[in-house]
Amino acid sequence: MPIATVNPATGETERTFEPLGADEVEARLHRATEAFDRYRTTGFDERAALLRRAADLLDEDTEAVARTITTEMGKPVTAARAEAAKCAKTMRWYAEHAEALLADEHPGQDDVRDSGAARAYVRHRPLGVVLAVMPWNFPLWQVVRFAAPALMAGNVGLLKHASNVPQTALYLQDLFRRAGYDEGCFQTLLVGSGAIEDILRDERVAAATLTGSEGAGRSVAAIAGDEIKKTVLELGGSDPFVVMPSADVDAAARTAVTARTQNAGQSCIAAKRFIVHGEVYDAFLERFAAGMRELTVGDPTDEATDVGPLSSEQGRADLEELVDDAVRKGATAVCGGQRPKGLERGFYYEPTVLTGITREMRIHREETFGPVATVYRAADLDEALALANDTSFGLSSNVWTRDTAEQERCVRDLQAGGVYFNGMTASHPAFPFGGVKRSGYGRELSGHGIKEFCNATTVWHG
Ligand code: NAP
Repeated sequence: MPIATVNPATGETERTFEPLGADEVEARLHRATEAFDRYRTTGFDERAALLRRAADLLDEDTEAVARTITTEMGKPVTAARAEAAKCAKTMRWYAEHAEALLADEHPGQDDVRDSGAARAYVRHRPLGVVLAVMPWNFPLWQVVRFAAPALMAGNVGLLKHASNVPQTALYLQDLFRRAGYDEGCFQTLLVGSGAIEDILRDERVAAATLTGSEGAGRSVAAIAGDEIKKTVLELGGSDPFVVMPSADVDAAARTAVTARTQNAGQSCIAAKRFIVHGEVYDAFLERFAAGMRELTVGDPTDEATDVGPLSSEQGRADLEELVDDAVRKGATAVCGGQRPKGLERGFYYEPTVLTGITREMRIHREETFGPVATVYRAADLDEALALANDTSFGLSSNVWTRDTAEQERCVRDLQAGGVYFNGMTASHPAFPFGGVKRSGYGRELSGHGIKEFCNATTVWHG
C-alpha cells in the first residue's frame, strides 16, 4: 500500500510520501532509546506539564487538523473536530490522574510480614520503547488513546500509522515536539506494514500495541510472541444492539441510527447487529429504517453532512461484497444497498438496513465496516443473548431494557468487553476499553490501560 493521502470524497491522490529507508528507521530507534533513558527518570509533574501543553496546542490546531483528517479519511469535519476535542480531554485526564493511578501499591501489613519483609510495596515502572500500529478510522484518537497513558507512565512511542493517513501521523509527531517533548519521545515512522517485523524484533523495542484488523493483530502478536514481547490488541467488533419490550423504542431507534452510522459505520464499537424482540420488532424496524433514510450523505467538508464517504475504494468494495452476498442468499434491503446517485466520484455507500439474515450469509459472521445494519428478530431474551454471542468478536454490546433482572442477565452472559444499557457504546478515559474473543486482549484507557505497558515491580526490604 503506498503511503499517500487519497481524498475519499474525490478519489484523487493529493500527496504521496516515500517510506523511510533502513538508515532512517535506525536513527529513530536510536533516538527513541536515548530519549527513554532520560525521560523514564522524569517525575509526574514534568510529564503532566508536557501533556497539558500538547492538549493546549491541539485545541489551538483543531480546525486545521480536522480538515486534514477529513481530507485523508473522509469523516465529516464536525466529527473530526469532536475527535480532536476528545483527544485533548483525554490528555488532560491522564495528566491529572496518572500519578494516582500508578502510585505505589502497599499490600496489607499481615501479608508484608508474612513475606518476611520489614517493608514491601509494588512500583509501576515504564517498559521502554513501545511500537504503536494504528488504523485510520479515528486517526488522532487511536494514537492519543495509546500515547497519553504511555507517556505519562514514562514510556516513549514509535508510531506506525495506517498508510492512508500520513499527514495526520506527521502532525502528531510535530504536536508532541512543539509541546516540548524530547524528539525521541514520540516519533512517526512512515513505513509500510512490511517493515514492522524488523522493527518489532529489534531488541530496543520493548512492546507493541495494535489497533486494527484481525489479520494485522495475528501477525504482530505472532512476531511479538516469538520475541517474548508484551502486546495489546484492539481488533474488530460486531457489536450487538438488543432491543427488549420494556425499551423506549423511539429512543432506541434514534440511537441505533447514530450507533450504526457514526464515522460512516467504520468504527470497531459501532453497533452492527440489531437484535429485536418480536413484540417491538415492527415498530423498531420502521423507525430505524426511516432514520437511516433521513441521513444526509455527502461532502464531508459540508457542516450538514451526517455520513461521508468510506475511507477507501477497497473498503467500499469489501462492504458491497458482504451486502451482495447476503441479498443473493435471500436477505432483504429495507433501505439502501446501493451507491448513492450523484456522488460517483467518491467512495460513498448508502445507509443500509438488511433483514432476513441467515447463518449461511457472510454478513452474519463478518464485520461490516460501513453504514450497513443487519436486523434480527428474537422471541425472548434467551434467543437474543444467543444471537448476540453468536460471533467470533466480543468488543462491546448495547442493550435496551428497563427490566433490572434482564440487565443483570446481560451483565452475566454477554461475551464482550462492555455492556451499555439504554444508550450506545462510547469510550471514556476513566473506563477500560477492549474486548474478548477475536476482538483482542488487554485494555486501553483508565488505570487498566496505563498499567499495560508498566513493569509492576515488587520492592522488598528484609
Ligand atoms: P488494518 O488493515 O489492520 O490496519 C491497521 C494498521 O495495521 C495499519 O497501520 C496497517 O498498516 C497495519 N497492518 C495491516 N496489515 C498488517 C500486517 N499484516 N502486519 C502488521 N501490520 C499491519 O485495519 P484497517 O482496515 O485499517 O482498520 C479496520 C479494522 O480495525 C477493523 O477490523 C476495526 O474493527 C479495527 N479497529 C479496532 C478498534 C478497537 O479499538 N478494537 C478500533 C478501530 C478499528 P497499513 O495501513 O500500512 O496497511
